[in-house]
Amino acid sequence: MAKRGLSSCPECGSTAVRTGKSHGLVEHLLTWFGQFPFRCNDCGARFDDVPIGLSAIIYAKCPRCLRMDLTVWDPKYYRTSVWQDLQLALGGHRWRCEPCRCNFVSWRARRERYRRPGAVQENATSEQAKASES
Ligand SMILES: [Zn+2]
Ligand SMILES: [Zn+2]
Repeated sequence: MAKRGLSSCPECGSTAVRTGKSHGLVEHLLTWFGQFPFRCNDCGARFDDVPIGLSAIIYAKCPRCLRMDLTVWDPKYYRTSVWQDLQLALGGHRWRCEPCRCNFVSWRARRERYRRPGAVQENATSEQAKASES
């Protein structure tokens, strides 16, 4: 996954941009949602962009490493907290970050399914593996 750095200027295409100060309450609120005001160092244009990507807000991500490719953990092997039980009862998803072995519950949808390095078969989901186990 390519790491996306700062945005480029929509006016001149320069990547010499920096985050500007937010003006007013609305822009300030937008920064909470991941949208930041930018300013181009080359042409001085001001523009808004979402440096993290809107997907970071819409989709579930690992609380430790912020990955968005996740697998599903098995409730048989993981003790949930009262809060997680509540979230699951209310429709939360059991997401697991494979690289850091972090299980968490989120209402957000998964952006992409984690693929083990070297794994070719996309269809071999953990769901199916679970089914054949029992
Ligand atoms: Zn520019
Ligand atoms: Zn992680």
